Amino acid sequence: MENNHVTVLNIDLNAIDFNLNYFKSKLKKTTKLLVVVKAFGYGSSATKIAKYLAKKVDYFAVAYLDEGIALRDVGIENPILVLHPQKQNLEKIIENCLEPNIYTNSLLNSFIEVAKAKNLTNYPIHLKFNTGLNRLGFTKTDIPELISTINKQQHIKVSSLFSHIAASEDLNERDFTLQQIDLFKHSSSELISKLKNIPFQHMLNTSGIINYTEEAEFDMVRLGIGLYGFGNNEKETKRLKSVFRLTSVISQIHTIKEGETVGYNRAFKATKTIKTATIPIGHADGISRQLGNGIGYVFINNQIAPIVGNVCMDMIMVDVSEINCNEGDEVVVYKNQQHIVDLAKKSNTISYELLTAISQRVNRRLTKF
Ligand SMILES: *Cc1c(COP(=O)(O)O)cnc(C)c1O
Repeated sequence: MENNHVTVLNIDLNAIDFNLNYFKSKLKKTTKLLVVVKAFGYGSSATKIAKYLAKKVDYFAVAYLDEGIALRDVGIENPILVLHPQKQNLEKIIENCLEPNIYTNSLLNSFIEVAKAKNLTNYPIHLKFNTGLNRLGFTKTDIPELISTINKQQHIKVSSLFSHIAASEDLNERDFTLQQIDLFKHSSSELISKLKNIPFQHMLNTSGIINYTEEAEFDMVRLGIGLYGFGNNEKETKRLKSVFRLTSVISQIHTIKEGETVGYNRAFKATKTIKTATIPIGHADGISRQLGNGIGYVFINNQIAPIVGNVCMDMIMVDVSEINCNEGDEVVVYKNQQHIVDLAKKSNTISYELLTAISQRVNRRLTKF
């Protein structure tokens, strides 16, 4: 349900469809599509996006158990891969029909125990291989034990084998990426030759789909940031449609005279008379303090209004000296991908962080613009 807050993240479903189809067009007809909706769907709304896409995609993935339960609670029936299940959650994973990523022999043994206790047969799991990201995953030396454990029981079935590329967006790292792909192929073929069933394989995230379908499309891809209009480089981002538009409303307008200051720590001191507008969005909503003091900016009546002074927890003040505007006028805090990418650069981060930082206090509104 929406709160009464005027600050709203508008999510354009037509743009979501456009971006989805753009990535689909890069794939073979038979390739399955998994959409990653972790972290509230990259700051959008995992439940709303998943409901909207349920019939258009094959799989969903989330990072953690609770995110998977949230999808089940709104009636999502697609298979859901939990990327970071953790040992203490294995029972709940099964109770909610979620499919765990298994990344160590010890986690595998624990999961088999839980499946056995529940008298399950062939419960689907996914095995992740570490091919160079060094985050989660089996290494080559784990494989003999892995195969022997799996082949000794019938409680679980390996549904898929996967890996994750460390620098799929960076073509300077092409050699390393090709090495990762090779390593994955070797591990995969060893497993496939020794398991009773043939699991499907997947490796590519958004930039992977852009750069490596020829080498590593396999049977499925895992689309995340691209769905929301970010291609990880300017050229690709331009081909995608902008999904997010973060808007608010001017609360108050002030005239600041020479010598007066604005905001906490008196960080801004006027050297001439200026006009500021106070906007109800602050660092508690995801506007980084790094964007204060003229670094970040919003749009009012299509004109740029830089942030004045420090970003407060619940508000920012912006310079509207040259802008004809009134209290109650709309403020565009994040206009489109280019704006978000620029603000990300200016605060030394990436679009992913800006999006996922938009806090739950901000309303999400899905519309077809
Ligand atoms: C987050 C994530 C993805 C999606 O990555 P994008 O760059 O957003 O497309 C895919 N696979 C794994 C394992 C992930 O953690």
